[in-house]
Amino acid sequence: MKRIIIVEDEELIREELSLMLEKAGYRVESLCEFQGVAEQVLEADPDLLILDLNLPKESGFRICQNIKKKSSLPILVLTSREQVKDEVRALKLGADEYLTKPFRKERLLARIENLLKRYEARANLLARDDFLLDRNTYTLYFQENSTVLPANQGKLLEAFLTTETDLLSKEKLSLLLWGTTEFIDENALQVNITRLRRVLKEVGLPYRVVAVRGIGYKLIREPCK
Ligand code: CA
Repeated sequence: MKRIIIVEDEELIREELSLMLEKAGYRVESLCEFQGVAEQVLEADPDLLILDLNLPKESGFRICQNIKKKSSLPILVLTSREQVKDEVRALKLGADEYLTKPFRKERLLARIENLLKRYEARANLLARDDFLLDRNTYTLYFQENSTVLPANQGKLLEAFLTTETDLLSKEKLSLLLWGTTEFIDENALQVNITRLRRVLKEVGLPYRVVAVRGIGYKLIREPCK
C-alpha cells in the first residue's frame, strides 16, 4: 500500500483529504506540527507528499526545496495560491505537480496515481552519467536512442552497474547467467562477454568490458576522445 503524507495546516481540509485518500486505498499520515517539516517528512519516508504552501512557520516553497535537495520524493503542491508565478516558482523548486484549492477529487486522485506511476517507472532505471538501463526490459537509453539488449547481455550490464567497483568475478557471473558456481564454463562466459562488448560497441556506448586476470571482468569507461 502506498503511503502519502499530508502537510496542511487547515484541519478541515486535512481531514477531508485524509479520508478521501484512505478511501482510495492509500495509507495516510498528516503532520500537525509545522516546525521542521522537511525533517519530519524525510523521517517518515512516504511514497508521496501533498504540500500546502501557506503554512504557519515556514513557507511550503522552502520546504519543497529542502526536501528535493535530499530526496527524490514526489511532491504534489495543493494550495490556494492561484498565481502563475507561484506555480512556476514551486515547479522550479522541484514540485512535481501543482493543484489549486478548491480541488476536484477526481483530478487530485488522477494526478497522484500518475505521479506514483512515473516515479515507479523511474525506480527501475539504473542511471550512469550518460546512459540509462531499464532493469525490467533491459532497454538501454543512450543519446536519444534506445536499444533492447538480449536478456543475458542485459543481465550482465545490470550486474556490472550494480556492483560497487564495476568488477565481477567469474563465479558471480556464472551464478548470474546459469545459477551455479560448481562448474564455470569459461568458454560460454567468454561468449557472453564478447556479445556484451559487441552490443556496447553497436550502441556506441563509451564503455568497455576488460578481463581482469585471475578474477573476472570489469566495466570501464573509455577515456574521452
Ligand atoms: Ca495553509
